[in-house]
Amino acid sequence: MTDRGSGRGVYAGVDVGGTKTAAVVMNEEGEVLGRARRPTRPGDSGVVESVVAAIADARRLAGITAPLRAAGVGVPGAVDPVRGFVGRAVNIGLDGFALADAAAAALGVPVRVDNDVTLAAQGLAHRLGETSLALINLGTGFGVGVVLDGAALRGHRGAAGEIGHLPFDPRGSRCGCGLVGCLELSASGGALARAAGGRSVPRLFSDAAAGEASSATAVEAFCAALALGLRIVVQAYDVDTVALGGGVFASQAMFMPRVRAIIDDQAASSSFLRDLRITERLRVVDDTSSSAAEGAANWVRESSTIT
Ligand SMILES: [Zn+2]
Repeated sequence: MTDRGSGRGVYAGVDVGGTKTAAVVMNEEGEVLGRARRPTRPGDSGVVESVVAAIADARRLAGITAPLRAAGVGVPGAVDPVRGFVGRAVNIGLDGFALADAAAAALGVPVRVDNDVTLAAQGLAHRLGETSLALINLGTGFGVGVVLDGAALRGHRGAAGEIGHLPFDPRGSRCGCGLVGCLELSASGGALARAAGGRSVPRLFSDAAAGEASSATAVEAFCAALALGLRIVVQAYDVDTVALGGGVFASQAMFMPRVRAIIDDQAASSSFLRDLRITERLRVVDDTSSSAAEGAANWVRESSTIT
């Protein structure tokens, strides 16, 4: 590959996931020049090393020698994006770590850190040419990233989109957040994995479809919770597009028709809900990890090139 961006510098974006760390390198025009993916090493020094190595891989694989100007990093957890401080990201072994400072010291360039789903929503909006989009990422929890008028919505305390911790099941179990019966205890990949017990999630769906009672009950609860989550996102943000991502959507044929039917049934008796046309806004997307890395690179590129 040619070394476009040569002389003017390049920008890196990294998505640090629970198992894989994905990196992209782009030029000042926002064109992706190189990509790489490697296993994530957890913990403070492991995450920094994973970020540095993934960027180095992406540069080397694409033959990029232009200087790195800045890097953006997405992590699955609570982040103060102003300081680049990660509060708690259990899947990658961080709990109170100044990741932006540590990665900046290791890379020798400014580093910004944000929540992975927020960055994935930005990357996806950029790729689709949308300025009004929410991404719901069903992983261990119910992650929501929102882009309004082309900009990421983070909120006063970084809590915009924390819909997964609204109450759904008053008889439910206690959530990691301390509350009882949170939506994400029912509407997440984690919820399906728990319901599946020793089975795979696709097996849970096929058992439910075959009429096995406890599986059918679990899948119905998941569909009802997801339908409510979709409604909350649309009614709170009124975004044009609601993108749905996460590994569980590989089985979307087993549950999305039911989720759409639940929303359509509710809309049948409400012209208010019908006029929102919620199901028309839904769009299943794949590879949110690449979107997060692209969103992270664009974030630092745009904030570097504006000034
Ligand atoms: Zn909770």
